[in-house]
Amino acid sequence: MQHHEAIVIGAGPCGLSAAIELKKAGIEPLIIEKHCVVNSIYRYPTNMQFFSTPKLLEIGDIPFVTTHDKPYRKEALVYYLTVANHYNLAIHSYEEVTSISKQQDGSFLVSTLKSSGETKPYSAHYVVVATGYFDHPNMLGIPGENMPHVTHYFQEAHPYAGTKVTIIGGNNSAVDAALELHRIGAQVTIVYRGAELSSRIKPWVRPTFESLIEKGEVKMLFSSQVTAIEADAVTVLTEDGSHQQLDSQFVLVLTGFRPDRELIESAGVKLQDEDKEKPVFHPDTMLTNVEGLYVAGVIASGRDANEIFIESGRHHGKLIADHIINMRENDPRS
Ligand code: FAD
Repeated sequence: MQHHEAIVIGAGPCGLSAAIELKKAGIEPLIIEKHCVVNSIYRYPTNMQFFSTPKLLEIGDIPFVTTHDKPYRKEALVYYLTVANHYNLAIHSYEEVTSISKQQDGSFLVSTLKSSGETKPYSAHYVVVATGYFDHPNMLGIPGENMPHVTHYFQEAHPYAGTKVTIIGGNNSAVDAALELHRIGAQVTIVYRGAELSSRIKPWVRPTFESLIEKGEVKMLFSSQVTAIEADAVTVLTEDGSHQQLDSQFVLVLTGFRPDRELIESAGVKLQDEDKEKPVFHPDTMLTNVEGLYVAGVIASGRDANEIFIESGRHHGKLIADHIINMRENDPRS
């Protein structure tokens, strides 16, 4: 069985940052990633522009220079790959971690499944879980949600040209998609349960969007919910309590994502009493209640998955590396 002092699970921005900080502290970590490096960013809408400035997305003290004041998805893909290469990080991609368990000697057994179907065991003294949230969209749990014309991931507007599209949600993803769809001639209706436009909408996007709403070029139903999806229509429970049918050839459910806690829970990590979705960990070290097991990035968030993002989660790695260095000094196995 391959042994590594530390294994980082997930090659998102926060997992990469954690691996770099470990490396800087003299520990050679192995990163195991079930898809490609920064898979979440790869799966963002193709033309997505970050709300963060490049400086706030930097990891490993490597400058992120872009032509615009806010980077685009493609620039971020190049940046994070360049940083991973710069630090010569050991990354096993297309290999999913299926379980983490403590062995009798106190180390961890990390089991994986490769895309070829091969399973592989590893052992490690320390494990950092940085598995993010992007694989798990917030499901509405309504009839028709799994139909083929419904998606939780918007990529590009082109396939929707000339069609009627219902977008469910009211944050940046919904607004960005609506603008792009409107530009290529789709008829867009946004159904949003909030009573007014979210304060999180990117300030440089908001005026354009508000103007389209005012002119009636994009329709937005506030305080409303889609209650069922059919092949060519959705049913909406509107503000006044009535049900309305909207013709829709496509439905984009852009209601955010939530981390999957199954992997960490099966390793013995407890969830907090106050926020039943947030793992138990110390905020100064990111160490969970399981000795040697750390969380980094969005997996450490609670009910509101947006409480942690790249800007904040990229700093978790340094806390973890500092703590491991302290632990190592008192660990006879090191
Ligand atoms: P992720 O980036 O989700 O990475 C987790 C990785 O773990 C993934 O690559 C996944 O494949 C892998 N993984 C999961 N399970 C396993 C497993 N069992 N085995 C192996 N690998 C596994 N944040 C900002 O700070 N600024 C922004 O401007 C911004 N814009 C955004 C725009 C959009 C459209 C979206 C959706 C998000 C945006 N965010 C932004 C949020 C940001 O993308 C997330 O906070 C960030 O990706 C979290 O990083 P992470 O490393 O914790 O997780």
